[in-house]
Formats: sequence, structure tokens, C-alpha cells
Amino acid sequence: MIIDDDPLMVRLLGLMLQRQGDFDIASESRPQVALEHLPELVGTADAVVLDINMPGADGMEFFRHLAAMGYSGCVALFSGEAPAVLESTLQLARSHGLHVAGALCKPPRVDELQQLVRACSHGTAPVRQPAAAWLPDEAELRRAIAAGEIVCAYQPKVALASGLLAGVEALARWRHPQRGLVSPGSFIPLAEASGAIGELTRSVFEQAFAQLAAWRAQGLQLSMSVNASAHDLCDLQFAEFVSDCAQRHRVLPEWVVVEVTESGLGGDPRLLVEVMSRLRLRRFALSIDDFGNGYSTLSKLRDVVFDEIKIDHGFTHAAHESLRHEAIFDTSVALGTRLGMRVVAEGVEDRLDWEFCRNHGVELAQGYFIGRPIDGAELPAWRERWLQRLGEQKLALGA
Ligand code: C2E
Ligand code: MG
Ligand code: MG
Repeated sequence: MIIDDDPLMVRLLGLMLQRQGDFDIASESRPQVALEHLPELVGTADAVVLDINMPGADGMEFFRHLAAMGYSGCVALFSGEAPAVLESTLQLARSHGLHVAGALCKPPRVDELQQLVRACSHGTAPVRQPAAAWLPDEAELRRAIAAGEIVCAYQPKVALASGLLAGVEALARWRHPQRGLVSPGSFIPLAEASGAIGELTRSVFEQAFAQLAAWRAQGLQLSMSVNASAHDLCDLQFAEFVSDCAQRHRVLPEWVVVEVTESGLGGDPRLLVEVMSRLRLRRFALSIDDFGNGYSTLSKLRDVVFDEIKIDHGFTHAAHESLRHEAIFDTSVALGTRLGMRVVAEGVEDRLDWEFCRNHGVELAQGYFIGRPIDGAELPAWRERWLQRLGEQKLALGA
């Protein structure tokens, strides 16, 4: 299905496509009509080619409608806009969970079209956002924290040069008696808004440190990263709590990284600096999480000494496809390196991301390519599999 207000382009593209293979081509040149009848028009289409700049209804509006109807075919953009504009539009379409195969410039070129057709025919189902997120209420969340229903999953972090496991990040999950494992996006914002986050954080630290002590006792030399929110970092007792918790579990501060999200760095700046400095004086490492995704990034780096910078997955995954992302990525790495921080990239989702990070001065990588967050008990088995993959796929330098 080609949706483009320029009938000449529709005809040209249709003819070129027909030379590529036996396609059933349909088109609509009236954007408003296309929008009104979108489910009938694209319901059975394997791919939609979409002009992003049409009067009355632009590509952005189509993305929203396609996502809302759960369209699972391929989407290709077709446009005369500058490459940078096209690129940001591609990202937007992807952020809607659409399966974006690529973009074609006007007038279309045969080689670009061939590439796009190939991408569409190798298309995989898009990752869908879970339907209608469930939102708990505060009383239910507080009950769950007290009942120990908030548990940790652990995601591995590995050194890019050697490929060896360096640490894990503890990520909260709600093991809900009826709903199963609920992801943090459904309850952390409520915990932060209601103040229940203080209790939640404490429960996560207790579990993470107990797990770390158990792994260390088995001889696993790894570090543990734990997330703290602004509420925790404005609590004058927080550093004391973390120290005490570590001592009780026989965990050394040097094994611990406290991750602070930028959006979490919004509280009283003096209080934040005080609590963070206290953690650092006690030898806990501080990491600036989701770097690049938020605001006042640079001023926080000016005011607090961080040991680690974690580049947000929005800048890591597919950074090699975009000169803009690559520039932001490289600048973040350079900034981290210049400030003496360890540079970690999150969102390493495939081999290209892995190699990109390795070639761009990143020390540690975390992401689905390496391993998804897992139950603590599964880590030794994950490690065995990973070591095998390292060898088989020649992932480490010099391998
Ligand atoms: P975060 O600290 O930046 O954690 C990384 C998130 O990225 C995790 O999502 C992880 O599953 C996801 N992720 C891992 N690899 C990839 C990848 O290759 N690609 C992509 N696109 N994503 C990847 P999760 O577990 O859903 O956590 C989301 C956020 O919730 C965390 O982001 C953190 O900000 C917050 N959070 C989780 N646990 C806690 C906690 O105990 N306390 C606080 N305050 N916040 C938490
Ligand atoms: Mg984190
Ligand atoms: Mg992050």
C-alpha cells in the first residue's frame, strides 16, 4: 500500500516495484481518506510505503494510527526531506513499535528500492508494547513491598575487550500473585510519587547485597549496580543505610555501584550533592544512568563526581545507522573518558551495536545481545553459555 499525495510518485514507485517482483500494489493519494480508512486499506498489506510530508495528515499522524491499530507489517518512509529529518522521523516511527524497514528518497533509486524490498521480506514481527498498562494503587504497592513481592532480576554487564562478566545490574520486578512478573515501568513512577520508593529501594538493596555476597562466596568476581531515585538521594540517612546494609551482608563498597538517573537528579541540589558525596566518601561508586536522556546532564557532571557514565540505550542501539546518534555517542564517550569515568553503554541489542561500542572506546556493555535480566539463580548457567558464545562468535578482541 502506497500512501502519497503525489500521484506521479505513486505511479513511478508502483512501476519500479513491479520490476522487483510480483507485488500486488494498491495506493491512496488522499491523505485524509487514507487516515479515515486505514484499517481497511492496510489490514491485509504486508508493507506500507508512507510519504511523511502530506497536506492535512503527515507521516507522524499515520505512525500513531498504525501503532494504535497494531499494524504488524513493514513500514517504509518515502520522502523528499533532508536526510537528517528523514532519520529523526524513522526513529519516531520505531519508537511507536512499528516495524520500520527503511526510507526511500524522492525520486526513488533502484538500488535503494531493492534494499528496502529485501528488508521488508526479511521482516520480523515488531516488539509490541504490552496492551493497556495496569496501574496499581499506593496501598497495594505498599502492601506488596512489605510482603516481599518486589524482587530483583539481574542483567549482566561485560567488558567489551575481554568479553568477561564484570557485574550485574539489579532491576526491580513485582512478583504479583495474580498478574505475574510486573515490570518497573508500571510501579516505580507510583513509588516515587507516593514516597513508597524509600521502602522499595531498601528492599532492593537488601536483596541485591545478599545475592552479591552469595556470588562472591562462590568465587564470582563481579560488581553489583543498584538504582537509586531522587527521593533516596535527598534522604540524609541514605548513605548510612547503604553502608550498614553492605556491612550486614559482608559486601565491600568497592563492589557496589549506585546508579542515579538524570530525571532523578531533580531534587534539592545541595542535599543531592551531600548524600552522593557521602556515598562516594564511603567508597561506593556512583554512576550517572541514562546519560543523554534528560536535561541538566552537564551541570550534574559539573557538581558531582561520578565514577561511571551509562550511555542511554536510545543512543547506543543502532547508533551506527545514524550520524547524529554516532556524534552524540562519541561525545558522551569522550566526556566520560576525559572526566576519568568508566564508560558503559546500555542497549547493546545486536552484534553491530557490540562492535560499534568496542570500536568507539566503551569499556563495558549491557543489553539484550549479551543477556536479558534474569533470576539470580540463572546467572551461573548464563555465564557458561556466554563464555561459549564468546569463543564461537569471536566476540572478544584477539579471539
Ligand atoms: P535502567 O536503570 O536504565 O535499566 C535498564 C533498563 O533497560 C531495564 O529495563 C532493562 O531491562 C532495559 N534493557 C536492558 N537491555 C536492553 C536493551 O538491549 N535494549 C533496551 N531497549 N532495553 C534494555 P527495566 O528493568 O524495565 O527497568 C526500567 C527502569 O526502571 C530502569 O532503567 C530504572 O530506571 C527503573 N528501575 C528498575 N529497578 C529499579 C529500582 O530498584 N529502583 C529504582 N529507583 N528504579 C528502578
Ligand atoms: Mg539503571
Ligand atoms: Mg539506564
